[in-house]
Amino acid sequence: MSESEIVHMRVPPPQPKKTVFTEAMEIFHRAADLIGLDKRVRLELEEPDYEHIFYVSTKLKDRLVPVPAEEAAKFSDLPITQVRDAGGLEMLADGKIILNGRALLGSDVSIRRGHLRLPSGTVYQLIPGESARFKAYRVQHNQARGPYKGGIRYHREVSLDLFKALAAEMTWKTAIAEVPFGGGKGGIQIDPRQYGREEMQAITLRFMYRLKALIGTNIDIPAPDVGTNGEIMALMYRQYSDGERERHNMRGIVTGKDTRIGGSEGRVKATGQGLVYCVEDYFADRESLRGKSFILQGFGNVGSNAAEILTGMGARLLAVNDADGTIYNGDGIDVPALLKYVYENPGNLKKSVLGFPGAQKIEKKDLWEVQADMLVPAALGGEITGEIAEKLKVKLIAEGANGPTTPEADRVLQRRAIDMIPDIIANAGGVTVSYYEWIQNKRMEGWTEADVNSKLELAMKRNYRIIRDISKNTGRRTDMHDSRRFVVGKEVSTREAAMVLALKRIEAHYLLEGFSQ
Ligand code: NAD
Repeated sequence: MSESEIVHMRVPPPQPKKTVFTEAMEIFHRAADLIGLDKRVRLELEEPDYEHIFYVSTKLKDRLVPVPAEEAAKFSDLPITQVRDAGGLEMLADGKIILNGRALLGSDVSIRRGHLRLPSGTVYQLIPGESARFKAYRVQHNQARGPYKGGIRYHREVSLDLFKALAAEMTWKTAIAEVPFGGGKGGIQIDPRQYGREEMQAITLRFMYRLKALIGTNIDIPAPDVGTNGEIMALMYRQYSDGERERHNMRGIVTGKDTRIGGSEGRVKATGQGLVYCVEDYFADRESLRGKSFILQGFGNVGSNAAEILTGMGARLLAVNDADGTIYNGDGIDVPALLKYVYENPGNLKKSVLGFPGAQKIEKKDLWEVQADMLVPAALGGEITGEIAEKLKVKLIAEGANGPTTPEADRVLQRRAIDMIPDIIANAGGVTVSYYEWIQNKRMEGWTEADVNSKLELAMKRNYRIIRDISKNTGRRTDMHDSRRFVVGKEVSTREAAMVLALKRIEAHYLLEGFSQ
């Protein structure tokens, strides 16, 4: 082979695989570079302390599954089954029915080849309950500043990678909120809407049975997240403390409990309320919040509470998207009526905004093009992509959800000068009031909602102001806050600024306390 036949090329170096976690950590690396984060601290924070994966099994209940019309026609002559204890039938959002207790006992049941017809005329196939197994996770990211802290998510699309990203976010968030916790996150790979209430209770108890060895009131403290709530927290507390002689000292094992069993006043609304405190502070430098319009994604705990508080302050909600659809009303959506429609309407099995009479249905893709002052994403991560960021017609994004904006979208938003209140401060209200709940449990106290909110307001606004000062490179000391220690000598984005604040606070623990070798 002559020299002229040789082709010279450089083989590209192997590229690390991009995952939700590596994407979420991009901002960590940027901020770490900005402040010249100590090399060993960086290694400590780059990966979680522990990644637990375990399995939860349970016995499911018998269920009735509606059959397709063709199949149903074969059973049209089947006499109707009259169920004596209709309370034992639990209707799921997807049309299946769980048979609780002894729902069919004492009823006149007409069954042929496992099929029966209910008074509605619908033909169902009776599927006997079998045992099922679910994959569960708890990632404990970092505890330099205090016990691991973070939510429990029940959702079909979870993974170790996602929980690693969410647990790391909690480490940053607890540092930003200045609460003495680290970061953790976990949950179960399950679609809770496909299971009955008692099934979810059994799964939760079994989950805590396995989790108990990994957590503790001063070790790791779970809380609600997507797909879980105060009811689930109550069961987790019960299972953790059952039979323990000092069970009342264990109330702080989970936060987000009902106020009647040791939960804090103001906790249910806290994340939405905290977000509004940031938004209020953002507008304090400009005009008032009154009359400002916003669009919203997610009408669950965070979205619905933020919407209720914002509209209560005179803002107008123009459009909402949730898992099942999108609604729009250019004159402003009546939020109290929407809350009633979603949460107090037994016919609305999916608890969706879809079908709300006070607004029109639009396509999800149209949500992003509604002109408004602000967008509040309060659903899942990764929803605002680069393409969507190009279309948005808002001036400000206040991130209620965790990680709703992809790194590519972030670059687009910066180029388009759309302001951002990043998740790790915007939704830190939840963990802040979780901390108040944990202290109240330790001290066996109960604070008023006014007490909780005034502490929360101060905490949110103080830390948000530090972040804005870092962003504008204007270190200063006022009655409320001191940002001088944190500025980096140049202007940075608010997301970078929030991460700088987190890393400087965490790094101080390592540098002042040292390493245990
Ligand atoms: P939730 O389960 O109460 O509500 C979730 C909402 O998102 C529902 O309205 C659901 O319909 C909607 N949704 C789900 N999938 C969707 C999709 N693909 N497209 C559009 N909408 C979808 O959950 P939540 O507690 O309100 O949490 C919402 C977000 O806020 C999550 O990212 C969560 O991690 C974050 N967060 C929650 C808290 C808290 O205290 N609850 C605290 C901090 C951050």
